[in-house]
Amino acid sequence: MLVSSAGRPVLATMIKDLVEAHPKVFRGKYPQASPTIPIGWHTLLDEFCLLLEAICDEYELSSLQFHRILNESGCLILNFDFCCKLSERKAQTIEARVFALRNRSFFSCSVCGRLVETLTDPVLCKVHDKLD
Ligand SMILES: [Zn+2]
Repeated sequence: MLVSSAGRPVLATMIKDLVEAHPKVFRGKYPQASPTIPIGWHTLLDEFCLLLEAICDEYELSSLQFHRILNESGCLILNFDFCCKLSERKAQTIEARVFALRNRSFFSCSVCGRLVETLTDPVLCKVHDKLD
């Protein structure tokens, strides 16, 4: 699903899949995504959306504005706002997950999102390192 006709994964396809898989989070609106977002971060983004869907109610999700998904120095940066006020506990849970994903993204394979033991540039797991 994340692969183009040429057999290569495409960022636009990955974002489209994400937006379509999480209608309550995105409501059909596409966040801006920096072109350097590795396809492997789909796993992390998907997990974040699942967390939002699990802990936020309909009203809270409807007030969510997902602006940007960025890659800053190899780290996933999520830029979003809730227009309503979240409970302290929910806000902290989301904040903690954003922080964890930011750190994890630095060590996640750029193709599949699996955690790597050794950092390479680009970041690749043992399986994908052997393919190129
Ligand atoms: Zn991999």
